[in-house]
Amino acid sequence: MTGIPDLATIEAMDAADPLRSLRDRFVLPEGVIYLDGNSLGAASHAAFDELRKAASEEWAYNLIRAWNTAGWFDMPLELGDQLGRLIGAASGQTVVCDTTSINIYKVLHAAMAMRPDRPVIVAEGDSFPTDLYMAEGVASTRKNTVLRLAGVDAPTIEELIDENVAVVLVNHVNYKSGELRDMTALTRIAHDAGALIVWDLCHTAGAMPVELDKANADFAVGCTYKYLNGGPGSPAFIYAAERHHADVQQPLSGWWSHARPFAFEQAYAAGTGIRRFLCGTQPVLSMRTLKGALDIWKDVDMAAVRTKSIALADLFIELVEAKCGIYGLTLESNRNSARRGSQISFMHEHGYQIMRALIERGVIGDFRAPSTIRFGFTPLYVGYADVWHAVEVLADILRSGAWKDARFAVKEAVT
Ligand SMILES: *Cc1c(COP(=O)(O)O)cnc(C)c1O
Repeated sequence: MTGIPDLATIEAMDAADPLRSLRDRFVLPEGVIYLDGNSLGAASHAAFDELRKAASEEWAYNLIRAWNTAGWFDMPLELGDQLGRLIGAASGQTVVCDTTSINIYKVLHAAMAMRPDRPVIVAEGDSFPTDLYMAEGVASTRKNTVLRLAGVDAPTIEELIDENVAVVLVNHVNYKSGELRDMTALTRIAHDAGALIVWDLCHTAGAMPVELDKANADFAVGCTYKYLNGGPGSPAFIYAAERHHADVQQPLSGWWSHARPFAFEQAYAAGTGIRRFLCGTQPVLSMRTLKGALDIWKDVDMAAVRTKSIALADLFIELVEAKCGIYGLTLESNRNSARRGSQISFMHEHGYQIMRALIERGVIGDFRAPSTIRFGFTPLYVGYADVWHAVEVLADILRSGAWKDARFAVKEAVT
């Protein structure tokens, strides 16, 4: 075990961490090391403040007037621009609304309609499943649409992209392994074949710098309850490059996407710009909670987030391999930090029980079937000493065999 840093060294890394003070903006329970911000981000004081204000002042006292007086109606676009700054999107191209699943449907359907002579959607066989389910849904509304999957129909996604492809739907970071795709390179390959590309940013928005405009992306979707800490079920987002705004038609043409919603016209007329990706009335309280969470990012340098995320994850791998190496854990994530998102996955035959035992001891990560244990590293509120203590607990659980207790084998509804 020579060469691995000791706790004093690691505590010095925390003391020198430029993001350290951000930890105080979050509300986390005592005795918990939270390594699941890639699934549900932590609560923050700012989020609570906005929620409280929106509910107990604006809703309670302004009632319906608050749509105008508190700016509720414009929130999807305003928050979209605020979020857009974190994903490299110039203003007017991002809107916050609905769920990622619904937004995939809207964007994918719209993109397919922009390539009417091409029947193929390309996606990843190991995509987050809802992306594939929504792609199946879109395909079911169109004649002769074909879904080609990387890892099923050919080993790589690049091999599936040809002149029959209308749209490539791709996860920027794989939810299970944490593998990061090269957005610029794959976007160029799709465009060279005449296809459009939709990026799912669920595991990169708020986790690292993203440059949608620079990469020349067409569309993107993502959620705000993971690395952006918007709260359980907080509204998702859509990005559409400005060059497509005039042509694009999305299928869920509800009144919020209408050019004049309060004219109550009988016939549909799409609104201009990114607004046309809205559908109906949005969850104001969730939006305002998200606003509080996004305000925190005004003081955050995304390059510093990436640097710390890599350092946390590299330290985790180093300590796990040194202290837990003999217990059958296999690194599933890429060892090359340039090819990963902000999570580390290990595989273990008894991963589910091990994760349950960890959670009972206050180290919260999660499990993805069949054998992946995932640990997310969110630099805003996770420190280097947290990594050290988490690995100590993991090593103890493996050494003692504490995970073998029968109660850890009972499957819970949400893993
Ligand atoms: C988390 C996640 C989703 C979630 O979709 P919802 O509609 O919010 O449930 C979708 N895609 C990816 C890649 C995800 O990681």
